[in-house]
Amino acid sequence: MKKKKRIALVAHDQRKEDLLSWVKYNAELLSKHELYATGTTGRIIAKACSMNVHRLKSGPLGGDQQLGAMIANGELDILIFLWDPMTPQPHDVDIKALLRMSVLYNIPVACNRSTADFIISSSLFNEGYEPIIKDYSKYLTRMF
Ligand code: PGA
Repeated sequence: MKKKKRIALVAHDQRKEDLLSWVKYNAELLSKHELYATGTTGRIIAKACSMNVHRLKSGPLGGDQQLGAMIANGELDILIFLWDPMTPQPHDVDIKALLRMSVLYNIPVACNRSTADFIISSSLFNEGYEPIIKDYSKYLTRMF
């Protein structure tokens, strides 16, 4: 990944205030990078912070899946995903799939504010970095 990071911002409804406050606090740093967000999260951030955010579909309508596909295609570097641990979600399987993609492709992922703070204050945040991806080639060549 390059110095300028492609960062996805996602928050469930009960976490949107938390994410907004984190984004406001880090607005200057974040504005130097390319921001993506699921629909509602992106609308709220763009409105409150007048930032340029690429908005995808709303999470329950496929936005999480779009982000997962971006990770699989090497189009996303960091995921900040404040999911709600207290409320069942209709798109639970999509959430799990998105988190799985972030682990599979070894991108930094924050599911709470402390981890987001650690990521954004890391010296690697403003440097180039190449995540090591496990060799899965045997999955492509296995016989059925
Ligand atoms: P939203 O989606 O930003 O459209 O609310 C978030 C999510 O539920 O994944």
